[in-house]
This record gives sequence, structure tokens and C-alpha cells, in this order.
Amino acid sequence: MQPITYEKPETMEAAVRALGREDALFVAGGTTVFDLLKVNVMQASHLVDVTRLADPRLSAIEIGEEEIRIGSLVRMADLAAHPGIRAICPLIPQSLDLGASEQIRNMARLGGNVLQRTRCAYFREASFAACNKRRPGSGCAALEGHNRQHAVLGASDACIAVYPGDFPQALAALDARVETIGRQGRVRAIPFTKLHRLPDTTPHVETVLEREELITGFVIPRGPWMKRSLYLKIRDRQSYAFALASAAVALDLAAVGVVRDARIGLGGVATVPWRSAEAEAALKGHPLTEENAQRAADAAFAGAFARSHNHYKIPLGKQTLVRALLGAAAMEI
Ligand SMILES: Cc1cc2nc3c(=O)[nH]c(=O)nc-3n(C[C@H](O)[C@H](O)[C@H](O)COP(=O)(O)OP(=O)(O)OC[C@H]3O[C@@H](n4cnc5c(N)ncnc54)[C@H](O)[C@@H]3O)c2cc1C
Ligand code: SF4
Repeated sequence: MQPITYEKPETMEAAVRALGREDALFVAGGTTVFDLLKVNVMQASHLVDVTRLADPRLSAIEIGEEEIRIGSLVRMADLAAHPGIRAICPLIPQSLDLGASEQIRNMARLGGNVLQRTRCAYFREASFAACNKRRPGSGCAALEGHNRQHAVLGASDACIAVYPGDFPQALAALDARVETIGRQGRVRAIPFTKLHRLPDTTPHVETVLEREELITGFVIPRGPWMKRSLYLKIRDRQSYAFALASAAVALDLAAVGVVRDARIGLGGVATVPWRSAEAEAALKGHPLTEENAQRAADAAFAGAFARSHNHYKIPLGKQTLVRALLGAAAMEI
């Protein structure tokens, strides 16, 4: 491992400036960065720790009439425990509580959480030669290798790695925006569903962020679907494991049970945090029966493509979505 220098700037402008060095990297909780630096999958010779940035909005949870704004330095555990958020939108704390371990949730910040890297074993082991994400142009060992955990939605012939996070599925479903600051103080707001890029032919380019761009917060519009919302995560064991399939759902139902509006995110099955407009369209205007939930799940996975070991993710993903939809419909609110 090469020597690494470290700084803790106090202003966002200084943090962005510090990333001007080609080999510099932001670090927040460090639970992704330090893991991957140690095994030489990520490289940096200068770390810019963003956790001491003085702007109070970076660590604030602000609940307004129209929107919720969450700073990028808020810890996973703190957002999950926030009583206001728990009362307004159960999906958000559930997606956080079901991710990682208590220790990690106490360290990890939300900006780092959405930028976590895939758990593809070929990516995380630097001795494997073929990984287009780690070494562009080297091939993809997972295509013909062990691909049980890999994606059935959004994959390409260059990369089939699953996006591993949980909370990002909630952000995708809830129409969140990501706020950033970049070079020369340029600020922008990016729809969360546009933050991550499909792998296509360049799987090493994972987001639309520029190298020096700092995530400052997330804005989530409030809506009547928030109360009837939940996150269902299916995994190999009940704790401390990544999703094989997950569903983030939020429903607005009319008194007679007809779906006025539906927001659906899928995890564990796709290369990026996945929003299923197809499933939402299949539900809107119809009663939320088991048959209609199944129809929505079929629509969500109509474009799915499996490899040798991950066929099971298509029925599992559908069943997860059906259970989540029926569970949300049955909530007493
Ligand atoms: C054993 C284990 C199990 C896990 N299980 C789960 C799980 O089940 N579900 C789940 O969702 N996650 C899981 N995780 C992942 C964990 O949630 C992430 O590692 C964590 O959320 C990352 O946050 P961090 O603050 O530590 O990020 P860091 O490691 O500090 O940073 C991650 C990335 O984000 C960049 N970055 C950080 N902050 C910013 C910012 N403000 N602006 C721009 N770039 C930034 C860094 O440069 C880096 O590229 C697990 C992790 C481990 C180690
Ligand atoms: S699936 Fe993606 S991350 Fe995994 S080996 Fe292939 S290119 Fe690398």
C-alpha cells in the first residue's frame, strides 16, 4: 500500500479545491473507502475527510411542508432514528435499518452510502484480471463465472454487477434530488434516478458526478404516498447481508382501494438503484389486488435478462415486489 496524506477541510470550497489533485478522494465514514484502499481496488494518495465541514445544513434533517431535506453528512443511524421521518415515511428508516450493521450505520454518512461500490467478488479482488469496472477494457469475469448475486436488470455485456445499497432504492422511488457543489462553487440538483449511470460500455464510470463534485444533500418531495410505504429486503440470512432482491414501495390509495399513485424502487436485481415506471403504470387506476400486483411485477421484470446462476432473481424479484405491494396496501394508516 502506498503512503496516503490526509486533510480535514472546514469549508466546502476548500474540500472541492483539495480534490483538484488527481489522486485525491473524498472520504466520509470510510466504510467503503478504507475497505477498498486496503485491497488496492480503490487508489488514492490524498484523502479529503469531509466530516468536519462546518456548514450546519450538511448534518441537518429539515422537514418542510413541501419537502424534506437531508444533509449528506447525516449518519445512516441518525436518519433511521429520526422520529419525524419515521412518522412521515416508514420506507426511509426501514431501508436504512435493514442495511449493513449497527456499527457501520453509526459511521457511514448518506453521501457515502449512495456512492458505495458493488460487492461483485471479481471487482473486489484485485488479482482477478478481467473486470471492466476495475480495469477498463479487461473483460468481465462474472459473465461466465459465478454470477448468482448479479443483476438481471440494466446489465450490459461489459458488466452485470448489482448495485448493492438499500436506502438509494427509497430515494429512487420517492423522486429525490441530489444537491451538489463543484468547481468554482457551481451548485446543481440532479434527479436521484439520474445520478448512477447504467454500465453500458463504460462500467467504470458509475455516476454523472464530476471528480471534484461534493454531494451536499438530498431533497425528497412530500406526498400522500409516503405514509403507506415500506421496504422489503430478501437476503441469504436475516441480518448483515446484501439484498438478493428488495422493493421500496409507496402507495396512495383511494378509499375503495384503487391505486391513485404508486412509487416503486427495486434493489438487489439491477445495476443501478432501479425505478420501475412500468410497474407503477400497471397499477395506477386499478384496485390493489394480488392479481394486479402480480401484473405489475411481471411488467417490472419484462426486460430482465438472466445469466447462468441468477435466473432465480426474476421470480424472487417479482415475488418480493408482490409481497411489498400487498403489505403496503394492508397497512393501517
Ligand atoms: C460488511 C459490510 C456490510 C454492508 N452491508 C450493507 C447493506 O446491507 N446495505 C447497504 O446499503 N450498505 C451496506 N454496506 C455499505 C455501507 O452502507 C457503505 O459502506 C456506507 O454507507 C458508505 O458510507 P461512508 O460514509 O462510510 O462512505 P465512504 O467510504 O467514506 O465513501 C464512499 C464513497 O463515497 C464518496 N463520498 C463520500 N461522501 C461524499 C460526498 N459527500 N460527496 C461526494 N462523494 C462522497 C467517497 O469518495 C467514496 O467514493 C455494507 C458495508 C460493509 C463494510
Ligand atoms: S460484473 Fe462488473 S464488476 Fe463484476 S467482474 Fe464484471 S465488470 Fe467487473
